[in-house]
Amino acid sequence: MKAITVVGVGYVGLVTGACFADLGNRVVALDIDEDKIAGLKRGVMPIYEPGLEEMVSRNVAAGRLSFTTSYAEALAGSEFVFIAVGTPAGVDGEADLKHVRAAAESIARAMSGPLIIVNKSTVPVGTGDWVADIVRANQPRPIPFAVVSCPEFLREGSAISDFMNPARTVLGSLDREAAEKVAQLHLPLRAPIMITDLRTAEMIKYASNAFLATKISFINEIANICEALGADVKEVAAGMGYDPRIGPDMLSAGLGYGGSCFPKDVKALAHMAAEKGRHPQLLQAVMEINADRRRQLVEKLRQLLGTLQDKTIGLLGLTFKPNTDDLREAPALDIARTLLAEGARLRAYDPVAMRAAASLMPQITMAGDPYALAQGCDALVICTEWNEFKQLDLLRIKQAMRQPVMVDGRNLYEPTQMSRLGFRYRGFGRGHGPDGQPMEADPE
Ligand code: NAD
Repeated sequence: MKAITVVGVGYVGLVTGACFADLGNRVVALDIDEDKIAGLKRGVMPIYEPGLEEMVSRNVAAGRLSFTTSYAEALAGSEFVFIAVGTPAGVDGEADLKHVRAAAESIARAMSGPLIIVNKSTVPVGTGDWVADIVRANQPRPIPFAVVSCPEFLREGSAISDFMNPARTVLGSLDREAAEKVAQLHLPLRAPIMITDLRTAEMIKYASNAFLATKISFINEIANICEALGADVKEVAAGMGYDPRIGPDMLSAGLGYGGSCFPKDVKALAHMAAEKGRHPQLLQAVMEINADRRRQLVEKLRQLLGTLQDKTIGLLGLTFKPNTDDLREAPALDIARTLLAEGARLRAYDPVAMRAAASLMPQITMAGDPYALAQGCDALVICTEWNEFKQLDLLRIKQAMRQPVMVDGRNLYEPTQMSRLGFRYRGFGRGHGPDGQPMEADPE
């Protein structure tokens, strides 16, 4: 059993705290957001993540997990402190480190004994050294500490399973002994542990996210070409994915990547490169292709509906991907803004994010389920591939609509089937079917 403080109870921090507690450690999870901490003390989760509520309550009941807003209280007796605060994009695309700075200052002022400071936030290369400088400068008296980078690779929606079954743990530090102590904490996860230097560990996180974003933009570029040449990108991706050098993941063509990580991390890496006089040519293309997906979806709607003025459009799904309530950089919200600017009336349904979305965009009318959403719509747009959309009664949906028009931003349905059902349907990159019939066709 080790004593651990986790700073930040967001998607990464709360999952990290709950999982380390579940592994038998004593964890204090800290946040400056008093509402979140008060909620957690009452058992109310600040985020939606499958399995999290049960794991948190089990570990609170066992006395291994507690919550506080006080750094002094949390750090008393802690051997490790994990920083898991947000690092959003700044104005020029650089990572904004104000929360990391504040956390480092607070740790420095409150620490009462030797500490290993482990950074889980995604931070620009060199931040580990900078954190060490901040801690040294803010300590009331010198107390030994080490900084270790431990970038987080979990995905929202499967965060607990990703944390517990990582593909690898990457640790970076100039202090080998400290890195090995952090490695010990991760031994129960039974994954390869790589220990490297601080800067390299920080870079591994950006390079990994940029590579995954590149895969998504790559398949979206292929989708564009498929559309022009009459091939089906879903089949193309499946055929490519069998090759172990390529792999099947991150090859879904459609609306592109969103969320709180890929967009900001690709931007931040490009910014780091440009700052040092390097031209991040590929990263620029990845970002341009991604931004274009949202424009293309609106263009498909224009082609099907003519003007969007006064059309009622229903958005199926609002979050950037299924199984999360995260709306940061969600393509649906970007698309909603464009559609509203073109004079459309918007309705939406999402299984978990409607309340949060309504407060961000009160112009959108929320519906109780997909069938209520379809009522009177001139078009439906699939923005998120929630499981519950995979087996909809599409005839019932069609009957409820004013016009049977659907643009499928996640290639959830089969164009031939949609055409047979009488929909005017457009996916992304679906070209022609195996029977040679155009798959983007209007009703048979
Ligand atoms: P988040 O916004 O969900 O949570 C951050 C939390 O930190 C918030 O609750 C906030 O109140 C708190 N906070 C801010 N300043 C603080 C301070 N000074 N002291 C204490 N608490 C403070 O963020 P997140 O999505 O969990 O991401 C955290 C970091 O992990 C980011 O760098 C992100 O890039 C990285 N990351 C995120 C994911 C993901 O899927 N969300 C995956 C891997 C890595």
